[in-house]
Amino acid sequence: MTGPGPLLVGTAGKPVELTVSPSGGGDPRHAVVVPVDDEEPLRYHAWVADRRAYVHERSGGRLGYLHVPDMQAPGWAQIHRDLRVEVAREGLVVDVRENRGGHTSQLVVEKLARRVVGWDLPRGSRPFSYPQDAPRGPVVAVANEFSGSDGDIVNAAIRALGIGPVVGTRTWGGVIGIDSRYHLVDGTLVTQPKYAFWTEGEEWGVENHGVDPDVEVVMTPDDYAAGRDPQLDEAVRIALAALAENPAKSAPPLPWAAVRPGIPPRRATRRDSIPCVPITAPEEAGPMAGEARSDCLFCKIVAGEVPATVVRETETTLAFRDINPQAPTHVLIIPKVHHPDAASLAAAEPQIAADVLREAQEVATEEKAESYRIVFNTGAGAGQTVFHAHAHVLGGRGLQWPPG
Ligand code: 5GP
Ligand code: ZN
Repeated sequence: MTGPGPLLVGTAGKPVELTVSPSGGGDPRHAVVVPVDDEEPLRYHAWVADRRAYVHERSGGRLGYLHVPDMQAPGWAQIHRDLRVEVAREGLVVDVRENRGGHTSQLVVEKLARRVVGWDLPRGSRPFSYPQDAPRGPVVAVANEFSGSDGDIVNAAIRALGIGPVVGTRTWGGVIGIDSRYHLVDGTLVTQPKYAFWTEGEEWGVENHGVDPDVEVVMTPDDYAAGRDPQLDEAVRIALAALAENPAKSAPPLPWAAVRPGIPPRRATRRDSIPCVPITAPEEAGPMAGEARSDCLFCKIVAGEVPATVVRETETTLAFRDINPQAPTHVLIIPKVHHPDAASLAAAEPQIAADVLREAQEVATEEKAESYRIVFNTGAGAGQTVFHAHAHVLGGRGLQWPPG
């Protein structure tokens, strides 16, 4: 038996009808598929997704992960697929294993060497670092014997620029460059060694030797067979240790939250057409509580003006998926009335605060999260970015304690 392979020869890119007979008997099903001519991209993306999930899991979501497969256009595109979300984490593991070289390492190190010197705090969304796409904390590179050419050079540059340590094995060691200008009359391409390479620290030593890692970790055949990745393990350990010494940079709280004089409490009236208008505005709820907020993102979600993936709804609460999930399950539960944070909700509307908590538990049950965390970030200094009270329900992965 050879399987369906021979029948699929020559079908790449063309719709093909499959007839599938259920193993238990019964009517055959018909499905149309479009075969691909090369499964390497699928396997590559699956591998990257797997490595990333591994780093997230081992670091409790604190470290981002980027893989740079080459130093040409595809590698440059690959790092930008994930750059923004991955550098927003506290630290970064940059994996240049198997990097097959090219000429864009200088652009890659330019990103990695960026230093956060400021923050943009937009209304209703997370803060952005200035400059954008800059690591907030430690960067650790991972290299191996297949990191070659510009994939050698990137490690030399990461070290020379002091971006971070390199973990793994000595790199490939071929940095004399060529260009592809000369074709013979029969179309054959011939190349000549043409560009020698020198860096601070390594001097001429990368050619024929490679870049020695700062921390050598060898993958044994046993590690491969058992699915272990001791190189990533060590990179994660180093980055978390560096974070313990020096916390990641984060956006400051908005100053006027602390110093703005209180606005006199307003007696709000119910207007049924706007569901987020609160029913009461007790004084103890603080100056910002109980106001109708036409500029509030979550009020707009309640009003249906901003789309969201709603998973549950009650008379007083709405639960929807977080747009930037930090765990396989990441759902937000909000009261339909506007209160700037959980504390003012609890003070003003204890019954609705209890509803939010009960809904959080219902969501966790529905999502089949065995262990989960319910989080109320309260105040910008605690990471609150949307000032309409909400509970986060996080689950589906290991959760570290204490949280960052
Ligand atoms: P906070 O940082 O204030 O505790 O949480 C606010 C959460 O809202 C963040 O996790 C953020 O990803 C999420 N968020 C921000 N904008 C939107 C949006 O437009 N839709 C959804 N579903 N979530 C959002
Ligand atoms: Zn609101």
